[in-house]
Amino acid sequence: MTTKTHPRKERTLVIVKPDGVQRSLVGEIISRYERVGLKLVAMKMLVPTKEMVEQHYTLDPEWRRITGEKRIKNARDKGQKPPSEDPLEITAAILVHLKNYMTSGPVVAMVWEGAHAVSIVRKITGGTEPLSTDVGTIRGDYVLDSYTMSDTDGRAIRNLVHATGTPAESEKEIKHWFSENELTNYTIVQEKILYDVNLDGIFE
Ligand code: ADP
Ligand code: MG
Repeated sequence: MTTKTHPRKERTLVIVKPDGVQRSLVGEIISRYERVGLKLVAMKMLVPTKEMVEQHYTLDPEWRRITGEKRIKNARDKGQKPPSEDPLEITAAILVHLKNYMTSGPVVAMVWEGAHAVSIVRKITGGTEPLSTDVGTIRGDYVLDSYTMSDTDGRAIRNLVHATGTPAESEKEIKHWFSENELTNYTIVQEKILYDVNLDGIFE
């Protein structure tokens, strides 16, 4: 296996959403990803435009269908009626709300690198709905929103963080938010302990 394709080189995009910045959780969120062993390779604060947000969420042509279906399944699992039977109708409304949400204040965009970065970051971040996601995740521990509340109030779910869903999407998402010269290739000393095949540099 070449260094380029080694799993430790996987990268993923994280965005602390406007509510995360307002809740003063940027440091806490960063430390969740840091403490597992991931390496920060880019970071910046910005106020996104609505165009950037729409493009970001539609980089994956399947996102509209998958996100609409996820909402329908969540309602079914709870014995509730979904807002519509048409996944695309649901997502059309979500996208309008998301554009308002994501442009309502500054966000902090970051790129994290390390073994299986995409799935590790998703695991630490938790599922879309804070109410039903696990305790111990960022979305489970620091916020209490639900589909019931976001539907009632006609807005996007506030869940503090965006994290890329799949390795195939991460490359596109990183390119969407960062230029190549904003990504820094460097080593942190703990990578030796995380990844060295023979831990032979410990004894004096
Ligand atoms: P995730 O961020 O967990 O990958 P999605 O990609 O499905 O979730 O959706 C993107 C974002 O849109 C979510 O993080 C959330 O802020 C918002 N969102 C998704 N589904 C809904 C919904 N049914 N109602 C309100 N907001 C939603
Ligand atoms: Mg997603």
